[in-house]
Amino acid sequence: MRPWEVLTQDKRTIFCIDRRAGDDPDLSQLLPGIAPIQRMHQVHGCSIRQVMPDSDPAITQSADAMVATGGAVSLLVRTADCVPVVLWDHDLPLTAVIHAGWKGFVAGVVPATIESLVAAGASNLRAWVGPSICGACYPVGIDVQAQVVAVCAATQSVTDHGEPSVSIALGVIDQLQQSQVAVVGHDARCTLQTQELYSARGGDQVQRIQIVVAFDG
Ligand SMILES: [Zn+2]
Repeated sequence: MRPWEVLTQDKRTIFCIDRRAGDDPDLSQLLPGIAPIQRMHQVHGCSIRQVMPDSDPAITQSADAMVATGGAVSLLVRTADCVPVVLWDHDLPLTAVIHAGWKGFVAGVVPATIESLVAAGASNLRAWVGPSICGACYPVGIDVQAQVVAVCAATQSVTDHGEPSVSIALGVIDQLQQSQVAVVGHDARCTLQTQELYSARGGDQVQRIQIVVAFDG
């Protein structure tokens, strides 16, 4: 079995690397032939790192989205319950990844990334939404639920035990669709309930699902 899955090949190749690859896979070894992998230091905000083909892969500035506006690039987003999103323009060499937990969602990281792509000329955006924790498994305080639901009512949920919860994935999908982004794929597996995936709530301290989008220019 391969340690990664090819999730879509609609102009961009999206690879999802889960726990079968080990705790700290060497991505360049796993995915030979792709452009150098660009990373970000994820901090649950809404800052965006702009990436060019000649960007230094050693730079890991604090950001929760990366936008690439040309050439061959590979972008990495790492998650364990938060929502990973890959965005691309169907016609232009514009690609982005987003890390959206509840704080980043409330901070507006999804619309900020869409705005950045539109400012770069995007007009035919598509998105793939990766696996995250589901509403049935994600209890939050009522103050957090209120902040999230104020951004998007579709997020309101309740856990299997009757506690207030939120589904950030449903909110992200709603925001994408409100912005006329076509959601061409959603891996709806729950990270807590799926053995193959990492879950911070499930006890995975440092391990993360690694999603790489590779665009060959
Ligand atoms: Zn779940």
